[in-house]
Amino acid sequence: MERRRVGILGATGMVGQRFIQLLSNHPWFEIAWLAASDRSSGKTYAEACKWKLETPLPKRIAAMTLQPNVPEGSAIELPKIIFAAMDADIARELEPKFAAAGCAVISNSSAFRMVADVPLVVPEVNADHLPLIEAQTWRKQSGGYIVTNPNCSAIGLVLALKPLEERFGIESLFVSTMQAVSGAGYPGVASLDILGNVVPFIKNEEEKLQEEVGKLLGQWNGKGIDLLDAKVSAHCNRVAVEDGHTECVSIKFKKKATREEIIAAWNEFRPLQGLHLPSAPDQPVEYDSSVDRPQPRLDRMRGNGMAATVGRLRECNLLDWKFVVLSHNTIRGAAGAALLNAEVLAMLGKLDKLGIRAGVDSARAVAVTA
Ligand code: NAP
Repeated sequence: MERRRVGILGATGMVGQRFIQLLSNHPWFEIAWLAASDRSSGKTYAEACKWKLETPLPKRIAAMTLQPNVPEGSAIELPKIIFAAMDADIARELEPKFAAAGCAVISNSSAFRMVADVPLVVPEVNADHLPLIEAQTWRKQSGGYIVTNPNCSAIGLVLALKPLEERFGIESLFVSTMQAVSGAGYPGVASLDILGNVVPFIKNEEEKLQEEVGKLLGQWNGKGIDLLDAKVSAHCNRVAVEDGHTECVSIKFKKKATREEIIAAWNEFRPLQGLHLPSAPDQPVEYDSSVDRPQPRLDRMRGNGMAATVGRLRECNLLDWKFVVLSHNTIRGAAGAALLNAEVLAMLGKLDKLGIRAGVDSARAVAVTA
């Protein structure tokens, strides 16, 4: 099968680098276009980027020239699939331009996550929210749209919560996070602030975590999303860990649940099984019964960095149950999440009719698809 051409906006950042790593040998997608800030435009990727990952920067990518960060003016044809990894303020300005130009913008930023007609999706949790794209004005005018994935700490959390919500219903939830420094991008938190320390504040993070859980676990009603009716309280902390967000969760259910039933809900949760999506882990939630797991260094790469690990399930004196969940913040929590969204969109045929104008018949539309 011919691979689809894709572009990366914000290609030089922490998440952008993960995109490059994960896309380098991807069976369905091929990196054809890269862009970052105006500072980087016109440089080769190797010149513009401080490569921070443990695998070598692929030679082909190192030699690619960063294009202007707008849909027009590229020296090479703009791909119709754009992975975006930029700060929210920049994303708010740039992502709509690409959607208006007929691109599927698959975004990591918070800029549009809570907008009513923009899907906020983790495929195992709420792939049924994706039809929201059809309500977007860009979709009607050019075929383009924006799909988002959640905040890096919301992703691991909702993977653990979804099977519990399905079986027992969530009434209230308390979560306290220990978030890795790579979650702040590069250069991120100053070493003097974080070494030997914990910073009990991450701007806007608690609000994002609380509201995104409501949308992710909400119900598609055929027109929009009915938010989850549960109380969520979050504490977010930055800790001196390189990669991997750890979260301590206490939870109250609508229906009584035993320890065995909770563990079975996690073990049996395989909503994407049989779809053969390249980035989907076989077991999206891995339960570990050891007394001292999960731990970021030991467990973040489970499922190639795409699985959430849960452990330390025990009764809670305040709510019903408590447990710990861990996930890799730049893989499952960012680039891998967006990539899995793209794979689901491809499977649903939503990457097939991009870059068309309203009124163009579908046969011609397929012919002009990149
Ligand atoms: P980062 O390391 O700071 O990278 C930012 C990227 O944006 C760089 O490629 C930078 O390019 C580019 N950029 C800066 N100004 C720009 C402009 N005016 N126009 C176009 N591109 C511009 O940040 P990050 O950690 O990769 O995060 C990117 C986004 O993903 C953020 O919205 C973040 O909240 C979200 N996210 C991050 C994580 C995580 O774990 N890190 C997880 C989930 C979501 P230059 O190199 O040219 O400056």
